[in-house]
Amino acid sequence: MKVTEHIAQAKGTTKFSFEILPPLKGQNINSIFENIDPLMEFNPPFIDVTYHREEYVYQELKNGLLQKKVVRKRPGTVGICAAIQNRYHVDAIPHILCGGFSKEDTENFLIDLGFLGIDNVMALRGDAVKSETYFTPEKEGHTYASKLVEQISALNNGVYLDEELQNKTPTDFCIGVAGYPEKHMEAPSLDSDIHFLKKKIEKGATYIVTQMFFDNTKFFQFVEKCRAAGITVPIIPGLKPIATKKQLNLIPHRFSLELPDALIMAIVKCKDNTQVRQVGIDWCIAQSKELVAAGVPFVHYYSMGKSDNIKAIASQIF
Ligand SMILES: Cc1cc2nc3c(=O)[nH]c(=O)nc-3n(C[C@H](O)[C@H](O)[C@H](O)COP(=O)(O)OP(=O)(O)OC[C@H]3O[C@@H](n4cnc5c(N)ncnc54)[C@H](O)[C@@H]3O)c2cc1C
Repeated sequence: MKVTEHIAQAKGTTKFSFEILPPLKGQNINSIFENIDPLMEFNPPFIDVTYHREEYVYQELKNGLLQKKVVRKRPGTVGICAAIQNRYHVDAIPHILCGGFSKEDTENFLIDLGFLGIDNVMALRGDAVKSETYFTPEKEGHTYASKLVEQISALNNGVYLDEELQNKTPTDFCIGVAGYPEKHMEAPSLDSDIHFLKKKIEKGATYIVTQMFFDNTKFFQFVEKCRAAGITVPIIPGLKPIATKKQLNLIPHRFSLELPDALIMAIVKCKDNTQVRQVGIDWCIAQSKELVAAGVPFVHYYSMGKSDNIKAIASQIF
């Protein structure tokens, strides 16, 4: 079922959903099931599966020279989606990127997803590869997520890249896109970021999932600004509980967002990460309660491959 249909069916109640990462190469599907199993009691209508593009690593050779190698550390997005749909009978939502994909790769990827009975895709640009400062599209690929949305929408209308193709069957994907309550790190302003977010909706995206945030005011203001800009689609808040002291510096840097002082101080006072984890859970429960009271359609949790803290939060909310 489409995310928009799940929202309509919920009739104004708030549902639980979450995102998982494919495991590091070498692990099997059981590591995924072990994390999903404990969360199924909260009846998620869908589970997102992230996509991780290739990275460049440099290996030192015996002669001291460096050899550049291309590796994908977390492959398996499509296989995991199929496994989730088979085992749990809930919608699995693969993330699909501009980065690393030509238009032809994208079309073939979408064809696979259609054959697997996937109804939703999360369309993203992806970040720059780690060794580069700026995002570089693949040759014959898309520069921005809005162009990727455009291609998916075209396929939904039966428009394939090869105009000569016979017997063209339209796909029927519901398309989600990313929104940033504290603006995307490259955007010169929040207003400009919302301007381009609107483009993704105009091209055919029908719901938004936000980047994590730790201050609900930022989310509520973002929704207000989106509505004022004419964006009417559902906006699903994404939350992540902090679990380690290191994340105090890592998260603001990695995701270009601010942590509220009260949360920072509570974490600074912790003696170890067991205490930090509890502070993160309590903070996320408080955020979730306020979001549910505000009537959001879903609270979407970034599990990062760990379900125990998400379970502790969900058991207080759903
Ligand atoms: C919910 C969610 C899920 C994610 N899942 C993944 C994942 O699975 N894998 C992964 O690698 N990354 C993932 N990301 C990270 C995401 O790929 C990065 O944040 C990326 O840098 C931007 O992606 P986007 O789709 O928001 O890009 P875009 O919407 O293309 O925006 C990128 C930047 O370009 C600007 N912009 C857009 N259009 C234009 C234009 N026409 N002209 C000028 N500027 C423009 C925007 O304002 C923004 O600053 C996720 C992020 C979120 C919020």
